[in-house]
Amino acid sequence: MRIKGVLETSFVDWDGKIVSTIFLPSCNFRCGFCHNHRLVLEPESFEDVPLDYLLRFWRRNRDFLDGVCITGGEPTLHADLPQLCATIKELGLEVKLDTNGSNPEMLRSLIKEKLVDYIAMDVKAPLRANDYSRIAGVDINGELSRIQESIDIIITSGVDHEFRTTVIKGVHGEDEVEAIARSLQGARRYVLQKFVPHLAMSEDLKKLPMFSDEEMDALVEAARRYIPNAKWRGK
Ligand code: SF4
Repeated sequence: MRIKGVLETSFVDWDGKIVSTIFLPSCNFRCGFCHNHRLVLEPESFEDVPLDYLLRFWRRNRDFLDGVCITGGEPTLHADLPQLCATIKELGLEVKLDTNGSNPEMLRSLIKEKLVDYIAMDVKAPLRANDYSRIAGVDINGELSRIQESIDIIITSGVDHEFRTTVIKGVHGEDEVEAIARSLQGARRYVLQKFVPHLAMSEDLKKLPMFSDEEMDALVEAARRYIPNAKWRGK
């Protein structure tokens, strides 16, 4: 397992929990808004973080830490992810997984083996041909059913979870947010996040303005037609 970054202690990556957050390399998407694009485009520019070092840190601090958040990049690309989750859980720590939902088989297996305690899945756009591919930056028109499959697996899993959409002005409006929320009916949580232009991968997106707080409130109202407790992060 290659690990390309760590935040040894984070208070913000899992609501109410103190965690270590680790970053796995590479991704099969190329979202223009990606904040971790160096990890996606040039993962070898980061030094490996030795797993032995992390295991010693986690063992020493397992009374203080609640768990480990595994993010990326796209963690489910890595075939040895289940082993990593199992190793973390053997230390008595919980596991939160961030995913783009492109690997339903991996999700099903992690859930079946009880290797994840919380799943946060990005849903980037309405599940319509071209809309999703435009945001994901790759042609996934033939893969939309796999994204919906991941959504359904997570909602029916019994594992605590949230779905998230990074909303971009000029790309996402109330119609888009409502359409996404409709595909998430039954989800425990749905969170909208403001796109932050200066961190974007795409030079074009860097020029876009951010949504105001009032505009975010209106988008959340659209989501609440299907997910009553929807909110935007920062609210
Ligand atoms: S799926 Fe996530 S890590 Fe991959 S390009 Fe999109 S935002 Fe970045």
